[in-house]
Amino acid sequence: MSIATGSQSTGRPPGIDADTLAYELHGNCYLNITRRCTLRCEFCPKFNGTWVVQDYDLSLGAEPDADQLVAAVGDLARYREVVFCGLGEPTLRLDVLLEVARRLKERGAHVRINTDGLANLVHGRDVTTEFAGLIDSVSVSMNAQDAPTYERHCRPKLEGAFDAILDFVRKVKVHVPEVTLTAIDGLPGVDIDACQRTADELGVSFRRRVLDVVG
Ligand code: SF4
Repeated sequence: MSIATGSQSTGRPPGIDADTLAYELHGNCYLNITRRCTLRCEFCPKFNGTWVVQDYDLSLGAEPDADQLVAAVGDLARYREVVFCGLGEPTLRLDVLLEVARRLKERGAHVRINTDGLANLVHGRDVTTEFAGLIDSVSVSMNAQDAPTYERHCRPKLEGAFDAILDFVRKVKVHVPEVTLTAIDGLPGVDIDACQRTADELGVSFRRRVLDVVG
């Protein structure tokens, strides 16, 4: 995900005792469906002492079910889009993600996933076919122009992660109308122009992100 650091230490801020399942930013509704990740990004707030993102505590006690998430979204008319994006990788909960997406699509939502692009590697199959008709937009955090730079910053637990992202993008663009690769400008060794060229070669959009800004 894109991130912003808050001022709180690990755990909930004083006075906040409920899980943040949905949070509003930029006119969008963001859904926080898991705290688990495939990566251990060295720039991530949760690996730097806080689960607070722009005053929202994303630490999650228990993982919410589909009913809880749909209820947390509330009135869709308030939002441009619903985005699966918390301090965890949403595709790790693929079944819940797709169920929530299906129910929101039935009500006319525009649905985006912000992802690490490792779902096919983690699940051991091509899951992108399951996105068809449910997901409108996928934003994939490529984060670097090559595997060594990616591994330095994102510290993947699985081998072959960088190549798996590129393969995921080739597959997902068949099933999802809008696919965007992103990288964070300002991380040491990250060549934003080279990342843009990779996106061009893959035939998808590219967005330069700014460190510490949610998007
Ligand atoms: S994928 Fe996102 S939530 Fe997970 S460790 Fe990296 S920055 Fe943090």
